Amino acid sequence: MTTIDSYNPADPDDLVVSVPAVGAAGVSAALAAARRAQREWWGLGAAGRSLALTRAAAAIEAAAEELVALTVREVGKPVGEARGEVARTVAIWRYYAQAPFAAAGEVHEPAAGQGLLLTRRRPYGVAGLITPWNFPLAIPSWKAAPALAVGNAVVLKPSSEGVACALRLAELAGLPEGVLTVVPGGAEEGTALIGGVDVVSFTGSTWVGRSVIAGATERGIPVQAEMGGLNAALVLPDADIAQAAAHLANAIAGFAGQKCTATGRVIAVGDAYEPLAEALAKALQQTPAADPAAASTACGPVINRQSLERLTEAIDSARAGGAAVLAGGARAERAGWFLEPTLVEGVPAGHPLLVEEFFGPVAVLLHAADLDEAVELANDTRHSLSTSVHSRSLDVALAAADRLDAGMIRINAPSSGVDFHLPFGGAKGASYGAREQGQAALDFYTASRTVSVLPAGEY
Ligand code: NAD
Repeated sequence: MTTIDSYNPADPDDLVVSVPAVGAAGVSAALAAARRAQREWWGLGAAGRSLALTRAAAAIEAAAEELVALTVREVGKPVGEARGEVARTVAIWRYYAQAPFAAAGEVHEPAAGQGLLLTRRRPYGVAGLITPWNFPLAIPSWKAAPALAVGNAVVLKPSSEGVACALRLAELAGLPEGVLTVVPGGAEEGTALIGGVDVVSFTGSTWVGRSVIAGATERGIPVQAEMGGLNAALVLPDADIAQAAAHLANAIAGFAGQKCTATGRVIAVGDAYEPLAEALAKALQQTPAADPAAASTACGPVINRQSLERLTEAIDSARAGGAAVLAGGARAERAGWFLEPTLVEGVPAGHPLLVEEFFGPVAVLLHAADLDEAVELANDTRHSLSTSVHSRSLDVALAAADRLDAGMIRINAPSSGVDFHLPFGGAKGASYGAREQGQAALDFYTASRTVSVLPAGEY
């Protein structure tokens, strides 16, 4: 039997949880239970589902401090950010607790004759959710809560590295048996899930996402996938450099850069380069990698040894290719998988740091002669999720926003940061299918049917 062992990245000897992987057979059993439970769940009606989701939100909120501690311990999220994630998780469940009462369709005039034309939305049945470890409570919640609100049952396969958080979240939600089931496992369980559900929502790396999309489209079921980002920040010469540096340090080093919306490329335009390089290097040096349980920490560990090694190898190879390290560049002097927040300039064209997502506290500083070149550099990636623009001129910032490929554009704000009630997703290779969150999520988890109603007999 395979076990899933989840370790504390700040203290790799600390085994947070060890659970058996359910295997393909366990996924089949969860799917059968979900299918049985779904009819009754949908049959509860809007008020019944709303009440259940409201109670779930309250139970999660009552356990907030326990969940904060678990998130810090299991994924190394700094405690301030972990508190933010738990608060957001509660807000997500509360928000979707109102969704069962939203309009489930529209009424139209028929093109000809009398009668009614209705569109009605109804749940697909069983939703399969596959989630990463970096938002181990918020991402399972922003997928599960809308899917449940509109009447689906849910089977969730969380990342092995966030499995303790997912199991506790589902336990606290306290929904009827089979309505929300967590299946611990890896690729085998993920594949089995895609093979048996009616709709799939995935968040994770680009390469896994592509195989999830292929598996779902082969079965002809709806799928959405939110994948990796290599996000840019454009700093214009008229920007408030001190403010931009503070936002960028947050977007590069916050939670050790392990957000799909973290900044990996900083593009300074014209005269902004020198002052920004200096201010940003200083801001990163003032954000050292440290104990995630300490209130003053913004940058904790990266998730595991492989991630740390991949990051340090990339920094070393950039150095060997002529790049200069302006801040960080090495492991922190402590046990655990800590890398000091790093800024490099002069990275050779085509280097992996300019092409791949590294998911760590590392950014490359680039120079652009003008806005046109900056936009071209920013768009030179398939992983266009979130781009920030820093300028005192709203006209210039909005004009730049129109030309950027990203799914999220953040003006005078860090590239990281998401509002849970608006559509969320990337552009080009960073995203596939419908948007997540807000009304977009309710649409994604339901199928629209058109119903024509004609008068019976003479009219
Ligand atoms: P990952 O791709 O390694 O794993 C994601 C999930 O897929 C896990 O549950 C994993 O067990 C599962 N999985 C692995 N192989 C599978 C397979 N063959 N079939 C089905 N499922 C499989 O990602 P991760 O390391 O957990 O998370 C980090 C990644 O997630 C980063 O690339 C990050 O950018 C991305 N991410 C994206 C967003 C977004 O909204 N765009 C948000 C958060 C994280």
